[in-house]
Amino acid sequence: MMYSWQHALFAQLAAQRATLPHALLLSGRRGIGKADFARHLARALLCEAPQPSGDACGTCPACGWFNSGNHPDYRAITLSDDDHDEEEGDEGPKKKAPTQIGINQIRALTGFMTTSTHRAGLRVVLIDPADALNTHAANALLKSLEEPLPGTLYLLVCHQPRRLPATVRSRCQHQPMPLPNPTEAREWLVAQGVTDPDLFLALCAGAPLEARVVAAEGSSARTVFMSALLRTDITLVGLSELATKIPMVQLVDWLQRFSYDLMEQKYLGQARFHIDLAKQQSALAAHLDAYDLLAWEKQLSEARRVVNHPLNPRLFVESLLAPWMTLRAAAGSY
Ligand SMILES: [Zn+2]
Repeated sequence: MMYSWQHALFAQLAAQRATLPHALLLSGRRGIGKADFARHLARALLCEAPQPSGDACGTCPACGWFNSGNHPDYRAITLSDDDHDEEEGDEGPKKKAPTQIGINQIRALTGFMTTSTHRAGLRVVLIDPADALNTHAANALLKSLEEPLPGTLYLLVCHQPRRLPATVRSRCQHQPMPLPNPTEAREWLVAQGVTDPDLFLALCAGAPLEARVVAAEGSSARTVFMSALLRTDITLVGLSELATKIPMVQLVDWLQRFSYDLMEQKYLGQARFHIDLAKQQSALAAHLDAYDLLAWEKQLSEARRVVNHPLNPRLFVESLLAPWMTLRAAAGSY
């Protein structure tokens, strides 16, 4: 599958069908649909009767094999449990959850590479995410990239190209992947049934697939904002960005309840409103300066009176959040 913001790039690459390089490095931030695009491109390139648009026909034998996951000339390599490179000792402690692509996965391609392709067509290897190739795997892959076999295309999907060895990068044609514009991203999320698309997009820096995941995790707008508020690594700009997506009255309301909770936690050891955050609030409350917290509460009550007509909404939001940032910073890492 492919997304609306990728159509132009697809058309461009499909038009180069006959002259594509032997390795494409598809890079871009997480959650913008790179891997889906790579699979879509692979299927189109393997199709035996592509449409004039360059898209796969969907009905030829090649499309059938691809869709059922057993096209003989296609391999997808991704994070796997099966390969921990146990014979190699310099990758640090071994973890249970797959975080790497190991050398055995790359070695396993050898047989695939030496067999002739079906009807002498193209052979496609998808590596996703290439960031996860460990050193040995990257070196093994480099050998294949240095001596490319004719008719073989490597598609490397990568979140952070700088994490790839320069030697691998230099053997690929670098193709940055497009981000949707805010309207496209919002429309896509709405079509996916996400309410509050702007909030989730702000939280995920405009990456719609990531925003859908966060939204699907059941995070309500409030949970998302409140957890951001409790984070130590968030900046005033980042927090304000998020806050401006929330109706102003709602925002002040949440903040008032938050400050009230903190005060209650500090002196009574309980929370009344954001009870789902009680544990975090309680740990933090003990380290907050009571006098400053009270001053913030007062400021929020005053803000409540002008909330419907602030002169400059952005400045208004920042003025409400800045004292919290100071309070939070003064509490330090406890
Ligand atoms: Zn086809």
